[in-house]
Amino acid sequence: MRLAITTFLAATGILTASLTAQAAEPTYQGQFVQGGIVFGQTDAGAEVLLDDEVIDTIAPDGRFILGFPRDYEGPAKLSIKHVDGSVESFAYDIGDREFNIQRIDGLPPKMVTPDPAVMERIKDDSRQAREARTERFTENFLEDGFIWPALGPISGVYGSQRILNGEPRAPHWGVDIAMPTGTPVVAPADGIVTLAHPDMYFSGATLFIDHGLGMVSAFLHLSEIDVKVGDVVRQGDVIGKIGESGRATGPHLDWRINVGAARVDAQLLVPPMEEAQKAANANN
Ligand SMILES: [Zn+2]
Repeated sequence: MRLAITTFLAATGILTASLTAQAAEPTYQGQFVQGGIVFGQTDAGAEVLLDDEVIDTIAPDGRFILGFPRDYEGPAKLSIKHVDGSVESFAYDIGDREFNIQRIDGLPPKMVTPDPAVMERIKDDSRQAREARTERFTENFLEDGFIWPALGPISGVYGSQRILNGEPRAPHWGVDIAMPTGTPVVAPADGIVTLAHPDMYFSGATLFIDHGLGMVSAFLHLSEIDVKVGDVVRQGDVIGKIGESGRATGPHLDWRINVGAARVDAQLLVPPMEEAQKAANANN
């Protein structure tokens, strides 16, 4: 009986929201740029499509997150399908960014072109990473925004193209923070641990935290993982320690963010590093 009433009220609420909020453009926070992350809000129960693809991680209250890949060419087309079936579309220009080229020479050849046995391991690593991303959480984990998972000098940024021993490779997707092995890493926002792998070939000890609405943080090259799959973590909780496991040229944290399939720029979510360091020093 109680269930039936709840369902009825929820349905009524959705209907009212759609009638009053219709023909309204969603509201946004964030940057419509390459690598950008935009937090959107539309009416409860609406379906959202980015470039005609349904976003399958919308909160019941109509919140959603858009992620724009590094080489995305706008305009982005956003369509809102309201609960009454009507559809509205909006177009957004996406700002171009310039990314660095980073050359790294003198790497051992087998690190640049792995042998077949290693290829199997790499494939298995990717499969596990993919599977860890298939869960879809629509909880509101992001109320408090993001903080840096560690403070320290930034030694690598999103989007830079790496050329290893002269061969162009995938761009660098994370922001690197160079700090000694053992430095604590904290959760930048609340979430659920969806991957805690002790030793991947490229990324070493690797941790994923799903923040909900399709947004997943990855932490690479850890020396220690202090949480396990299924744990709910809160912003500021220690989740691991910085290290240089996997293919790393020195101890650092590589923090990456995905929104759905789009690899986006984590650094856009947090204040400039110097500001965060000043604020931390002021609190000590
Ligand atoms: Zn890195």
